Amino acid sequence: MDKELRKKASALDPKFKEKIEELFGTMKESISLLYEAAIRDEKTGLYNSKFFETILDMEIEKVKRGQEKLSLFIIDIDFFKKINDRYGHLKADELLIRLAEVLKKQFRKSDIISRFGGEEFFILLPETDLKKAKRITSRLRTVIKSDKILKKYDVTVSGGLTEFKKRDTKKRFKQRADKALYKAKQSGRDKFVSVE
Ligand code: GH3
Ligand code: MG
Ligand code: MG
Repeated sequence: MDKELRKKASALDPKFKEKIEELFGTMKESISLLYEAAIRDEKTGLYNSKFFETILDMEIEKVKRGQEKLSLFIIDIDFFKKINDRYGHLKADELLIRLAEVLKKQFRKSDIISRFGGEEFFILLPETDLKKAKRITSRLRTVIKSDKILKKYDVTVSGGLTEFKKRDTKKRFKQRADKALYKAKQSGRDKFVSVE
């Protein structure tokens, strides 16, 4: 605040000043609530696909300019339709949320975990090459496999992993991760596959 403004503000009636500050506080809270609602998936609290796409664009620009690496990991629950049929929609929802919780715990704050579609999650790993991403996802696999609730309901997941190449387009990058996921599904599910 400049000098002139500060002088004017200090001349205000303290009660009036307090009211204005209160009002600004409420506005700030509302804006931050609206922002959260706009970028997150309601069911899991993970980021939504729109936010994911925005960050993906930004990260790709960064990688193209610098030396940093960027990896993309897609996870999809195996036979989730059957899980719905067997245990009902509500239980299936709980399992979806449980998996989201496991993902949240397992990744770093700087990683972008999003629910992209129904039972599909896109995870963007900035500053991470394929080798490191493989280590991270292999740890994740162990955690998912040993989670009591997921285990009880025989929830398994398949995953596809890839690293951004300098001459990639966003589309090609995503397609390659999707191809890796497809390979995991085709070769029996319950596994993670990486594509160079
Ligand atoms: P695959 O191993 O090939 O991925 O088989 P799948 O059954 O998981 O895949 P498919 O795409 O055939 O079906 C996905 C199912 O996921 C269909 C839908 O009923 C279920 N699903 C999607 N979103 C939700 C959700 O939010 N809640 C629940 N309970 N089910 C969902
Ligand atoms: Mg599925
Ligand atoms: Mg799917």
